[in-house]
Amino acid sequence: NQDFGIEKSLSNLGISTENLGVSTGGKYFANGDVLESYSPTDGKLIAKVTTANFSDYDAVIETSKKAFLEFRQIPAPKRGELVRQFGLKLRHYKEDLGKLVSYEMGKSLQEGLGEVQEMIDICDFAVGLSRQLYGFTMHSERPGHRMYEQYHPLGIVGIISAFNFPVAVWSWNTALAWICGNVTIWKPSEKTPLCGIACQNIITEVLRENELPEGISSMIVGDHKIGDRLVNDKNVALISFTGSTKVGRMVGTNVAQRFGKSILELGGNNAIIFTENADLNMSIIGAVFGAVGTAGQRCTSTRRLIIHESIFEDVKNRLVKAYAQLKIGNPLDENNHVGPLIDKDAVQQYLDSIEKCKKEGGKFVVEGGVLEGEHYTSGCYVKPCIAEVENSFEIVQHETFAPILYIMKYKTLEEAIAMQNDVPQGLSSAIMTTDMRQAELFLSQQGSDCGIANVNIGTSGAEIGGAFGGEKETGGGRESGSDVWKYYMRRQTNTINYTDSLPLAQGIKFDL
Ligand code: NAD
Repeated sequence: NQDFGIEKSLSNLGISTENLGVSTGGKYFANGDVLESYSPTDGKLIAKVTTANFSDYDAVIETSKKAFLEFRQIPAPKRGELVRQFGLKLRHYKEDLGKLVSYEMGKSLQEGLGEVQEMIDICDFAVGLSRQLYGFTMHSERPGHRMYEQYHPLGIVGIISAFNFPVAVWSWNTALAWICGNVTIWKPSEKTPLCGIACQNIITEVLRENELPEGISSMIVGDHKIGDRLVNDKNVALISFTGSTKVGRMVGTNVAQRFGKSILELGGNNAIIFTENADLNMSIIGAVFGAVGTAGQRCTSTRRLIIHESIFEDVKNRLVKAYAQLKIGNPLDENNHVGPLIDKDAVQQYLDSIEKCKKEGGKFVVEGGVLEGEHYTSGCYVKPCIAEVENSFEIVQHETFAPILYIMKYKTLEEAIAMQNDVPQGLSSAIMTTDMRQAELFLSQQGSDCGIANVNIGTSGAEIGGAFGGEKETGGGRESGSDVWKYYMRRQTNTINYTDSLPLAQGIKFDL
């Protein structure tokens, strides 16, 4: 019954036993139902949160609208200064926030700290970017004319996030949205509301210290009803949604109906191809971490291994050996490799998927199951398992958010690439090979159809410097690095005539 310093961290982050789930970055209020957040690590109630009702929502929108009118006037590099200070605060709270992520969500402490580090990294990236919001200039076909493109802020950006990255996804969006001159409203997952409140408390400190208006960063804790309100609200220019394909499909359709903009970051079904000449020592590490890290609850988790037939038995045996060494238990204890699933519903889905897989003919080489006993009282700890399957099985085509790894064989690389692509999702992919020709084919237009394609590293995780996201049912959105900031701005083409005549384009004559 170790506490791992969690009480102290909660107090440092300003979390009480009862919290208000609505904040404008100035005031805190909430008049909706009360939500209880239980830890999947030990099943204990962490704290209660009063959620937003619709009139709370309306109040947040009004404050955001006002804040935008002020915030858009602040020069981008000065907005960058706000983000720089936010990055400094995150460094200060890294230990506490990482611990809370681990305790409320269930990922390992190292992964929780890693998530906060991602927040710090995106802040650094955004600070630099705040002086680099470049547009093109071009030569006009008309004499005495100048043409260029510029980018303006959009307005209110709504962020709806999933439970599995309860803090980083918010910061990927906000750091960019803010330097671009937008104000943000965040609806965190109702499964991790305290992570939301902790982040909001941290940014509120920065806003207050800088005497900035409330409404630049708002948060509303609530379930799908509040999420739906945000999605359908014409006041919200961009919805950045991270979550399941099922919900994302509705969100994308509803935002499109009102001609809003959306960024969709949805489910993955990520595979690693093991070629006949793969360096197996490192490949096995990449595959096992990818499959069991965050208990298989990453959008980039490795779900499928497509293995050359000549090494299939060898890889299988090595995997079985590696899985036998996995330590499952409290994620705050750094000796453990695998923590719990988020809740008992997730455990049920894991069990259902195993059943379905068996019915379709899947052969389990490492058996799954729910763990019981004094270390597993939350009922959320499951055994990572491995099944030999066909890629065409319905269950294999589906993303189960749990540590179930599917393995299958191939003969030719073309066949392996076709199998890798033959799923509805298109997020992350990888090839393990020491043959440059194989690597290049995998990365070519005939290769992986995913938003992320790696060579000799696994599918799981990403650096903030690159654009992050995927194709097909993963939604097509991109977040984080590269030129993704453009999604958070509206593009305008400007033509200026500095002569005293008005020539029309395409040589059109219009004399009066
Ligand atoms: P989820 O779809 O159940 O919930 C995501 C968010 O949507 C939550 O905040 C939820 O309250 C909200 N929501 C639910 N119904 C809504 C509605 N009708 N309108 C508006 N909002 C609504 O997903 P989850 O279980 O929290 O997360 C797991 C899923 O997220 C997985 O599929 C995973 O692959 C995906 N994910 C994708 C990425 C990515 O970058 N591609 C990253 C993380 C997670």
